[in-house]
Amino acid sequence: MGNGAYRRPPIVPPKEVVVRVVFLDRDGVINENRPDHVKSWSEFQFLPGALEALRLLHEAGWRAIVVTNQAIIHRNIVPSAAVDDINQRMREAVEIHGGHIDAVLYCPHRPEENCECRKPRPGLLRQAATQFNLPLDQCYIIGDAYSDIQAGRAVGCRTIMVKTGRGLQQMMTAPPLSLRPHQVVRDLADAATWMVRAERRRQLLHIPDSDLPIDVPPITPVSLFPWSSNSSST
Ligand SMILES: [Mg+2]
Ligand SMILES: [Zn+2]
Repeated sequence: MGNGAYRRPPIVPPKEVVVRVVFLDRDGVINENRPDHVKSWSEFQFLPGALEALRLLHEAGWRAIVVTNQAIIHRNIVPSAAVDDINQRMREAVEIHGGHIDAVLYCPHRPEENCECRKPRPGLLRQAATQFNLPLDQCYIIGDAYSDIQAGRAVGCRTIMVKTGRGLQQMMTAPPLSLRPHQVVRDLADAATWMVRAERRRQLLHIPDSDLPIDVPPITPVSLFPWSSNSSST
């Protein structure tokens, strides 16, 4: 009897939830850039949608690490305690809005000091990788400058450029191929939405980690009914 009986297909165990890590530049991505630098909490202004984006990422299981150049410290514009204070208050505000920033790493050096941590060098990313045991080639980085993209590319991160902050101005010049971001989006909110969707799609389709979605062309609006536009003139 058993031969012809319907047999259920074997149950596929749920795929292990993969924790994703995203590096975020701070000024121009999370908060408004200021030509005279963000020197105190009163000068810190979240960009529209940034808090919601951080909440979305946190709820979707992402870890967020801020990596930021703060040369104002070694330029003696502000003490490091002032930068620490801004970062701490930023983290508290993010927390209140349902998000979470796991760590903030910053470079205090001036460009002339030629340090390893000032972006476009990838020192901060390497530091985070050591500290948190991260596979950098599976991490994302979001920035508003080619220096962020360059740092990410140097260690194999997936790179996303936003048009906020210095983004649009940076995009006026075409970068060398090695500096091109994998994805360009309007702002942090769009970046978060895109990343969460791309990751969900990858998990649903069982696409291996090594094939994380990159170099996906931006979606352009296409008319579903191309004939309808001229239908009135017969
Ligand atoms: Mg920036
Ligand atoms: Zn540095």
